[in-house]
Amino acid sequence: MPNLSGRMSQLGTETAFEVLARATALQRQGRSIVNLGIGQPDFPTPAHIVEAGRKALADGHHGYTPANGILPLREAVAADLYRRHGVGISPERVLVVPGGKVTMFFAILMFGEPGAEIIHPNPGFPIYESAIRFSGAMPVPMRLHERKGFSFDAEEVLGLITPRTRLLIINSPGNPTGGVVPKAELDRLVAGLARHPQVAVLSDEIYGEMVYEGAHTSLTTYPELEGRLILLDGWSKTYAMTGWRLGYGVWPAALFPHAERLAINCNSCVNAAAQHAGIMALTGPREPSQRMMAAFAERRAYIVPALQGLPGFRCATPGGAFYAFPNISNTGFDSRALQSRLLEEAGVATVSGTSFGAFGDGHLRFSYAASLEALQEAVGRIGDWLERQQRHEAARIEA
Ligand code: PLP
Repeated sequence: MPNLSGRMSQLGTETAFEVLARATALQRQGRSIVNLGIGQPDFPTPAHIVEAGRKALADGHHGYTPANGILPLREAVAADLYRRHGVGISPERVLVVPGGKVTMFFAILMFGEPGAEIIHPNPGFPIYESAIRFSGAMPVPMRLHERKGFSFDAEEVLGLITPRTRLLIINSPGNPTGGVVPKAELDRLVAGLARHPQVAVLSDEIYGEMVYEGAHTSLTTYPELEGRLILLDGWSKTYAMTGWRLGYGVWPAALFPHAERLAINCNSCVNAAAQHAGIMALTGPREPSQRMMAAFAERRAYIVPALQGLPGFRCATPGGAFYAFPNISNTGFDSRALQSRLLEEAGVATVSGTSFGAFGDGHLRFSYAASLEALQEAVGRIGDWLERQQRHEAARIEA
């Protein structure tokens, strides 16, 4: 066996991909599975975006591009951020990368090392903690509270900061909870961060255009964070482009050369045709994205009360993204066991809350990026399965 570096044992994974593999294996055996495990829109990339990518290939865009991305794409990103948030951001600070995850990995590698601490949401996207451990830094979980709609408490977060804290990761709207941090909480956090000028902030706003009520508050709108805010965003969710691998980071000017150097060492650039498609996504018609969001709103209106109606389930209303994160602790099953039994016995793929950190215990994640019929089928199957378990339990007690 070749001698691996010690850090390889620190890398975690995303359970959603394991659930997907198991669900696919069961389907291959002929089982019917409703897959609410994976977090990607169930819509195709809008046709005008696909056409722009196809045309770029036909027009000969086959070579390397500048490492930071082609200028018209970075200009389109800057214009889009102005349209959405009214912020003026120079295209020179935009680094185009292969997917949202890459900005996360670069930011964590840039600040993480043994002795450093990085604060991350919990329950949260599992790659934060995995990459933090890989960097050698200590992950410090920042609790998201069910009673606060899965927001954090700003005072609690500020209380986690020590002289060793290098980076604070914020994700609103959040995966796996769909939670949105209210503006007042962000205001309190930003005000408190004035006392900790050494702490950089990574704001993962990949679900920023998927907010159901009111407007999304971007951390880019806080001038106080200038010089230490890294914005993570991308095309995967808003434009149903998960497989194109296209994302971007907006970096403080002083950090940008470091991020760009990481890109040159790692991926050189993003494939050229995807970049051309990305320009069309940002500058072309927005109706397909709006229709997709309207469908998610309709599904949310169905699934939240439907889950709430299942015995032992309690479901907070997600303010954004396409995830519901019900509390299932009153079902009598723990999250991991329920995930596994629902998949194997009821044919419904979900992800255990524990896959997103210790504070996800007692929850299951449902991705409602699936048709209304699929959601109804899933809830029906889970309801029937829970009823069967109750009957078995009653029979056991009687016996
Ligand atoms: N950030 C969060 C919170 C996510 O949920 C995801 C994907 O699920 C990503 C980033 C990564 O997105 P991408 O597929 O563009 O790498």
